[in-house]
Amino acid sequence: MSSNIPETAAQRLADILARLAAAAGRIEGGAAPHLVAVSKTFGAEAIAPLIAAGQRRFGENRVQEAQGKWPGLRADHPDIVLHLIGPLQTNKVADAVALFDVIESVDRDRLAQKLGAEMARQDRHLPCFVQVNIGAEPQKAGIAVDETVDFVARCRDRYGLDIVGLMCIPPADAAPGPYFAQLAELARAAGVGQLSMGMSGDFETAALMGATQVRVGSALFGAR
Ligand SMILES: *Cc1c(COP(=O)(O)O)cnc(C)c1O
Repeated sequence: MSSNIPETAAQRLADILARLAAAAGRIEGGAAPHLVAVSKTFGAEAIAPLIAAGQRRFGENRVQEAQGKWPGLRADHPDIVLHLIGPLQTNKVADAVALFDVIESVDRDRLAQKLGAEMARQDRHLPCFVQVNIGAEPQKAGIAVDETVDFVARCRDRYGLDIVGLMCIPPADAAPGPYFAQLAELARAAGVGQLSMGMSGDFETAALMGATQVRVGSALFGAR
């Protein structure tokens, strides 16, 4: 642990980007993953300094909360890319498709079907990730590991979704490496190229294991 914990959001951002680049430099052909700054529970005043420092990709886990803060923040920065990383209820699908640019939490047929229909209706064909319950935890969202390959195929062929990758949140109390490796293997089997994995405590491990994007909240914004 460094004795100089970065003080400002811009310093924390620079520190995390440097650590991601260093991790990518350790793997062959490695490119640093995109950083999705997870701004859930934080308001516009906490987010604005990161936008000023150049961060453009943000993640939120609730549709209603995101609707409250992002239209204003986005007005001056139309190049912001907003990821939905939390569970999506089918009655919020229309709002989610209108607001977000990437949906990371596709995890069941009914949701996939609604998303496909709504994207066609709004003519907004957003890239999507399938969320995998990689640790088979009953309290967590996500499709089961052994259903993932078939589900990805159904999302594409039956529901018309543009599935670009897989997303997971490994069990909190275990070493994440084997779960990240398993997600990478599943993505190969399903024929998708992107891996959304790694959070504040394990984004370097995820980068070393092939993450194409990491989702970092508290290491950027502070404790929630
Ligand atoms: C909150 C959240 C994160 C970020 O977690 P931190 O530990 O604060 O970095 C990442 N992914 C999802 C799905 C989340 O809900």
